[in-house]
Amino acid sequence: MKIDTRERDVVIIGGGPAGGTAAALLAEKGLDVLLLEKESFPRFHIGESLMTETWWVLDRLGMVEWLKTTAFPRKRSVQFISEDGSPSKPFYFFQTNKHESAATWQVERSVFDEKLLTVASEKGAEIQMGVSVDRVLFDDEGQATGVRADLAGEDVEIPAKVTVDASGMGALLGRQLKLIRSDPRLRKGSIFAHYTGGYRDEGADEGATLIIYTEGNRGGFWYIPLSDDRVSVGVVGDPDELLKGRGGPAEILQEEIQKSPEMRRRLCELRQASLCSEVMVTSDFSYRATRCAGPGWVLIGDAFGFVDPVYSTGVFLALKSGEMAADAIAGAIETDDLDASRLGSFAPDLVSGIEAMRKLVYAFYTPGFSFADFVRSHPQHRERLVDLLTGNIFKEGVTDIFDDMKDCCELPEELPLESG
Ligand SMILES: Cc1cc2nc3c(=O)[nH]c(=O)nc-3n(C[C@H](O)[C@H](O)[C@H](O)COP(=O)(O)OP(=O)(O)OC[C@H]3O[C@@H](n4cnc5c(N)ncnc54)[C@H](O)[C@@H]3O)c2cc1C
Repeated sequence: MKIDTRERDVVIIGGGPAGGTAAALLAEKGLDVLLLEKESFPRFHIGESLMTETWWVLDRLGMVEWLKTTAFPRKRSVQFISEDGSPSKPFYFFQTNKHESAATWQVERSVFDEKLLTVASEKGAEIQMGVSVDRVLFDDEGQATGVRADLAGEDVEIPAKVTVDASGMGALLGRQLKLIRSDPRLRKGSIFAHYTGGYRDEGADEGATLIIYTEGNRGGFWYIPLSDDRVSVGVVGDPDELLKGRGGPAEILQEEIQKSPEMRRRLCELRQASLCSEVMVTSDFSYRATRCAGPGWVLIGDAFGFVDPVYSTGVFLALKSGEMAADAIAGAIETDDLDASRLGSFAPDLVSGIEAMRKLVYAFYTPGFSFADFVRSHPQHRERLVDLLTGNIFKEGVTDIFDDMKDCCELPEELPLESG
């Protein structure tokens, strides 16, 4: 394997949704872009449920028509189900959105992420798979100057005007610069797997995401219908209660399913579903970097921060931050102004959206809180809640919902964004 080590306009670390989007949109603008991905695709990745607001970025990338040809189920709603199995009314996205974007997809990430890199490559980005970046390089003034990567055992340095970290939860540059802060209140663990043959609702509800509370609202299951009669199932909870001293992940997942009337009904009673993947575990995944950009560098997607899996915000925020960063970087390179404030000009908007979702996650984990009860007592907020659940987080007035929600649950202080 060989890589041309000429200076690039942009080097991107990681080929998930964030890196793929930034690579595609920067290459489309005629910039010289190199994306380095440590894995070989296709590869499994958790995070299958899209939010409807992804439509706009996907349309800009030219992926909507392709998505329509796939067998990925259409997601038209989210429904919450209490610990005893009582369902809320589905929150249908078409009730507040008359555009075709109101129906999104439950995707298989191995297929989706690989397609996005194909799109980026067709737009002119150079994609190198199987190349792991070790660190971002800086000059004596603190300006990022490119990356050092491991190319089949050989170290190579690749210079770049701008380095973008899209390395996901590894958060390579955020950790290198010690910018990562975790949210101790959202310290969670998760066990997840794919099943085949689980019960599916019918009609408009067939592709719905279900969020099913576990005991005392301390956590929840997701239930995401996929193609080929498969369903993505995962449980999120306190990592000490969920993961410690209880046997292997498969055993724990099975026990948790048996404790939840709704999960038991769907996987064991109405249909007999069988496990069709490995059972996987992840934990301690709620964090954010204190800065989004610096001289010559930008963080996007999970490399900047991750809140919680419960509302399926991750891919949307990865696509959106990839798009916002691409526009900011192209403008910065054009004007030869690579300082932090120019490269990170999108960060305040992005952070306000992320912080809104973090508040909604706090509400979810508040014992006794229920969205169904909240909208019954505050019907004026139903539309705002649906907006937030679809990713319409930059809409004016959408955060007004928290003026009343803070009386029902403790909401977090916003984590400030440092500049520099
Ligand atoms: C339990 C759980 C469930 C989730 N469910 C959902 C969901 O239903 N819907 C949703 O939208 N989101 C979900 N998410 C979040 C979602 O998976 C992520 O937010 C999303 O994948 C972020 O995209 P990204 O491009 O930032 O990072 P990633 O998709 O993780 O991509 C990063 C890429 O960088 C590569 N990489 C890492 N380090 C290096 C390196 N040093 N050099 C080169 N390459 C590197 C990796 O191999 C990877 O391909 C979930 C997360 C968890 C933990």
